[in-house]
Amino acid sequence: MARLRTKIFKGIDASPGICVGRVLLTDRRRYHVPKTHVSDDQIPGELERFREALEQSIAELEAIRGKLSTKKGREPKAIIEAHLLIMQDEMLIAGTEKTIHSEAVNAEWALQKNVNQIRKIFDAVEDDYFKERRSDVEFVGRRIMNNLMGHETSVKLPEHSIGVVVARDLSPADTAGLNRDRVAGIVTEVGGKASHTSIVARSLKLPAVVGVEGILSRVGSGDRVIVDGYRGEVFLHPSERAVREALDRSRGLRDRTAELMAELDKPVVTLDNHRVMLSANVEMVEEVPAALNYGAEGVGLFRTEFLFMGRRPPSEGFQRSCYKKIFKQVGDRPVTIRTLDIGGDKRHPFLRAEPEANPALGLRSIRLSLRSRPIFLTQLRALLRASVEGRLRILFPMISCLRELKDAREALKEAKAQLEAKGQAYDKKVEVGMMIEVPAAALMSDVFAKEVDFFSIGTNDLIQYTLAVDRQNEQVAYLFNPLHVSILRLIKRVIDNAHKVGIPVAMCGEMAGDPLYLHVLLGLGLDEVSMNLPALPYARHLIRASRLKEARRMTREVLQMDDSEDIGRTVRRHMAEKFPDFFTSKGPAEILGGL
Ligand code: PEP
Ligand code: MG
Repeated sequence: MARLRTKIFKGIDASPGICVGRVLLTDRRRYHVPKTHVSDDQIPGELERFREALEQSIAELEAIRGKLSTKKGREPKAIIEAHLLIMQDEMLIAGTEKTIHSEAVNAEWALQKNVNQIRKIFDAVEDDYFKERRSDVEFVGRRIMNNLMGHETSVKLPEHSIGVVVARDLSPADTAGLNRDRVAGIVTEVGGKASHTSIVARSLKLPAVVGVEGILSRVGSGDRVIVDGYRGEVFLHPSERAVREALDRSRGLRDRTAELMAELDKPVVTLDNHRVMLSANVEMVEEVPAALNYGAEGVGLFRTEFLFMGRRPPSEGFQRSCYKKIFKQVGDRPVTIRTLDIGGDKRHPFLRAEPEANPALGLRSIRLSLRSRPIFLTQLRALLRASVEGRLRILFPMISCLRELKDAREALKEAKAQLEAKGQAYDKKVEVGMMIEVPAAALMSDVFAKEVDFFSIGTNDLIQYTLAVDRQNEQVAYLFNPLHVSILRLIKRVIDNAHKVGIPVAMCGEMAGDPLYLHVLLGLGLDEVSMNLPALPYARHLIRASRLKEARRMTREVLQMDDSEDIGRTVRRHMAEKFPDFFTSKGPAEILGGL
C-alpha cells in the first residue's frame, strides 16, 4: 500500500497510552457500508465488482420498467426511466471508478462518496424540483450498493490483528463491553476529555483520542493506525518507522512509570523541605482506587457531572452513596468535590435549556445550579450527609461575582438547615472553596479570599476566558498558552491574596499536571497540584528532585518579562537543565505534555 500517504488527525487526548492497530469501523449513523483501503493489485477487482453491481441494477430496473409498461399510467414509468438515466450517468460511473483508483478504496466506499457528492450538488440548487431529485440519486445509489454488498469483496481484514475501534461515538456500555483482548484503542469523532467514552476508556486503560472530526470519512476497516492518547493524535497509514517510534515511546513511558511507581511511599517534599500536596482529578467513583495506586494524597477535584448524565437528576440517596464510596476508599485524606458544572460544552439531558449563542458564557455551572435550586439543594444535602464519613471540601465552580458566592453559601446554609430539621448528621467543619476560573474572580481574589476556606485554580477555563481562546477549538489552540504573561500575573495575584489571609491554593486545571510548568507553579507558591492519574508519579518524582529556591529564582526572573515567548523559552531551558533526562524530545515530560 505504498500509495497511501500518512495522514495525521488531531483530536483530544482522552485516555493516555499509545497503541498501534487495525481499524475496526463502527459507523452506526446509517446502514453499514464496508469501507476499506485497497492495495494496487486489488483495484481491478473492485472496478469489476462495481461494474457487475451496476449492470445488475440496470437489469433490475429494466425488468421493473417492463412490468410497468403493461399497466396504466405514465408517471411511474417516467420515474424508473429517470433512475435508469442516473444509473448510466457519467458523473456517477466515471466518478466512482476514479475514486477507486485515485483514493485506493473499495467499491462501496467510492460509490458512497460519489453519491454524496451528487446529492450535495442537488442540495445547493435553489429549486424545489431539483432538490427533490436528491432522493432519486439516493435511491439509485442504494440499489447499486445493495447489489455491491451482495457480492463478496476480495478485501479481507488481517486475521488476529489488534483492533482500534473508530466510531462516531460510543456509549459507555459499548466502551465497557469492548473485548480487551482484541481492542487496543478507541478513536471517536465526537466527545471531549470529559465525555463518558473518555472516562470509561481511562478506567479500562485503553488509549483513546476523541473529537477527531472527519476521521470516519477517511479511514477504512483494516487500515493501520497509531493512536497516541498522550498527545491526542491519530496517524493513519503510518510508516514502519513511525510505528517503531511509537512503540518505543510507549515502552519507554511504561518502563519509566514502573520505575517511578517504586517511589510512591516517599513524601512529596522538595530537596529543601517544602511540602506540596499531590492530588488526583477524578471523574468516576470507580477511578478512586487507581488514583490511590498512582500515589494520590487526596482527591483534589471530583467532577460530579458524570453522576448527572442520565435522563433524570440523581437522587439524594444515590449521590450520597457515591460520595460515601469515595470517602470509604480514601480514608482520612481530603476529598474536594465540586458541585455540578454542566452546561456549556457539557450537555445536560434533563434540564431543558434554550440554545445559546455563546454557551461558554451562558447559563452553565454555578449559574445553572442557582437557577435550579431543588437540584442544587439535593446535591448539597447529599454531600453534607456523606461528609460524616471523611474529610470533605465542597468546591463551587465558575464563581464570577460576590453575589454568586453568597447565593451558593446561602443554599448550603439552607441545605444544612433542612438536614438539621430532620435530625440528619453532617460534618460542621466542612470546608468551602471556590474555583478561580473566571478572570473577574482572579482579579478580585483579595475579596473572595476572605469568604472561603480555599481556592482551586481552574486553568482550563481561566486561560480560555482570559485569552479569549475557545479551549475546544483546534484552530486557535496555538494561542492557548499557560505561560502567557497575563496568566502568570493572575495566578500570582490569586496565590498572594490567598496567602495574605492564610488560605491554601490548589490548581486542578491541566496546567497543574504538565511537568513543564511545575517549577513556575512552585515558584508562584502553589500549595496543591491536582492532576490526571498517569501524571501523578511524574509530579511526585520531579517535586522530590526540585529545590524551591531555584524554582523561585526562575519564577522571579520570568515575572519580569514582557514577552510570553521569552517566558516559554526560559522555562523550557530551565527545566531541561534541571531534568535533562525528562525534557528531551523523547523524554517522558514531552510525551506526557498536555496530560
Ligand atoms: C478548569 O476549568 O480548569 C477545570 C478544572 O474545570 P473543567 O475542566 O471541568 O472545566
Ligand atoms: Mg472549568
